[in-house]
Amino acid sequence: MDTIIKKIDKLQPNSEENKRIYEKAGAILKKGGLVAFPTETVYGLGADALNREASEKIYAAKGRPSDNPLIVHITNMEDLEKIVETIPKEAYIVAEKYWPGPLTMIFEKREIVPYETTGGLDTVAVRMPSDETAREVIRAGGGYIAAPSANTSGRPSPTMAGHVEEDLGGRIDMIVDGGAVEIGVESTILDMTVTPPMILRPGKITKEMLAGVIGEVSEDRAIIRPDSGVAPKAPGMKYRHYAPKAELSIVEGPAELVVGAINQMAVGYISKGYKVGIIGTEETVEKYRAGVVKNIGTRSDEATIARHLYAILREFDAENMDYIFSESFSTGGIGNAIMNRLLKAAGHHVINV
Ligand code: AMP
Ligand code: MG
Repeated sequence: MDTIIKKIDKLQPNSEENKRIYEKAGAILKKGGLVAFPTETVYGLGADALNREASEKIYAAKGRPSDNPLIVHITNMEDLEKIVETIPKEAYIVAEKYWPGPLTMIFEKREIVPYETTGGLDTVAVRMPSDETAREVIRAGGGYIAAPSANTSGRPSPTMAGHVEEDLGGRIDMIVDGGAVEIGVESTILDMTVTPPMILRPGKITKEMLAGVIGEVSEDRAIIRPDSGVAPKAPGMKYRHYAPKAELSIVEGPAELVVGAINQMAVGYISKGYKVGIIGTEETVEKYRAGVVKNIGTRSDEATIARHLYAILREFDAENMDYIFSESFSTGGIGNAIMNRLLKAAGHHVINV
């Protein structure tokens, strides 16, 4: 199949050409086809969430395990009421504060939502994104768009259209190119079917931010202590998100010691003929003396780190590294989401210095 790729002109949001692109995307979605589009978190691979065959195509294109449910994307609260059974009052409070935005909530599903979309579950995950391109595509496609990250299962989530093309070019109908995404890590997932509501995946909207509006919020033990042996409650969280060709290790400890240890390991591996990649920060990149060093962002603004994480992992893959060493990041704010994804990519391999 030929994949149509169209670029949105963000400087002229209401241009005729943009309108034609959204109309085309909408027509494909309404016919049961697949359209990838940007959201503020990562690029999503969209299909009509209420059409079982369309949802099945997502699993096939991504190579996604069939028990890993999809998030349904909407653009207004009235549409939420049409697809879920009961909406607890806390959900309205959370929605008022954080929708549209990088937050997904889980509810009991109505019959209209097929099990193909929910991976066989009686609950459905719903998000209202803020990205204007995403909202146009969702509206054009009928209002209910299932959209997991638009990567091949097991690869890092795509943060630009080129990443989508790399993984899914020739396998999907269309890619709407809206440039690089703003946040770079997937949405926070909050389960509203339990009391108190439980975070199943950390994201930009933190536990503290949620607790600030609804009081008590719990956190899935499997994300706090990944080695606890309990299965995560979000089916997708049990899969290793990214198995890099290289062996990725996270080096933790006082900054000076971390740089020293990474330099020493890099020199050692390089002398044996291996290719070594290093993930450093604005504050440290100058201090590395061996290997391919990449600047992931600045510690003074961890949003920059989130934005570059997946792109850097993809670059190292393309460069055929044997070993990658990454600095560790704080676990406050969005740092919690960054470390959750990085630890998964590293298969929880941490070196303490
Ligand atoms: P992705 O859209 O690729 O970021 O993946 C969606 C994530 O949401 C996966 O980790 C899923 O397991 C999770 N998810 C979707 N629906 C549900 C649900 N009904 N219950 C629990 N987790 C869900
Ligand atoms: Mg994903």
